[in-house]
Amino acid sequence: APLLSTHDLSYTYRDGTQALRGVSLDFGLGAVTALIGANGAGKSTLFLNLLGLLKPSGGQVRFQGQPLGYKKSALEAYRQRVTLVVQDPDRQIFYARVADDVAFALRNLGLPDAEIQERVEGALRATGTEALRHKAVHSLSYGQKKRVALAGALALRPDVLLLDEPTAGLDPAMTEDMIDLLGQLREGGTRLIVSSHDMDFIYAVSDHVFLLGRGEVQASGAPADVFRDA
Ligand code: ADP
Ligand code: ADP
Repeated sequence: APLLSTHDLSYTYRDGTQALRGVSLDFGLGAVTALIGANGAGKSTLFLNLLGLLKPSGGQVRFQGQPLGYKKSALEAYRQRVTLVVQDPDRQIFYARVADDVAFALRNLGLPDAEIQERVEGALRATGTEALRHKAVHSLSYGQKKRVALAGALALRPDVLLLDEPTAGLDPAMTEDMIDLLGQLREGGTRLIVSSHDMDFIYAVSDHVFLLGRGEVQASGAPADVFRDA
């Protein structure tokens, strides 16, 4: 079974908006899957369903072949395996200092201090933010904050990392750094799902692309194929 997949997934908001209409996606078709589509296509709604933050109106999200459980304890365990990095890092700052911020989710889990320290060190190293560890998060550049937010997610050692617009707001040099960093994560075995409007970025990082439109899958394939037909 694929690590993460959706099966005829539908989602309708309270006001009747049908944001997803029977979406079946296999996130095991590549190490890095890109989600593209115009504003309103349903990308955010899909992410929220993949994270278990919204419960499908129809169909299923499956992890390791099993339908997600929506009880609190099952979701807490699941969210260590499938983790989100939000688009705007200013919305994901938990603590003033970088090292404490990166440790936030691990402290919440009640892990032993030695393990927290080891994981935080690993996450800082992986994101090239070791030198920032004692700095105040608010003093960092936007690109540095994005790296610190990513470090916080990596510290959980998830199987799947969802990244919402990872290059939005980054200049070309920082975008190159982000591409390198995602390449390293991929080599390390983390599966990545990226939502992005940046076609050059998607071309550089992804193996498989799903094009969403009006809540449906409109194309699925290698970037070169999807972009040629789009
Ligand atoms: P995308 O992330 O691709 O821009 P969304 O998942 O945000 O797409 O939106 C899909 C559809 O659902 C759009 O028509 C949007 O207006 C609608 N939508 C999103 N959030 C809500 C909400 N909280 N209540 C009602 N409709 C919503
Ligand atoms: P949304 O409501 O879709 O999350 P935002 O209003 O948060 O959008 O951000 C709009 C755009 O500006 C996004 O591309 C976001 O990445 C970028 N952005 C947000 N904050 C900053 C910042 N401090 N510096 C540079 N770009 C930013």
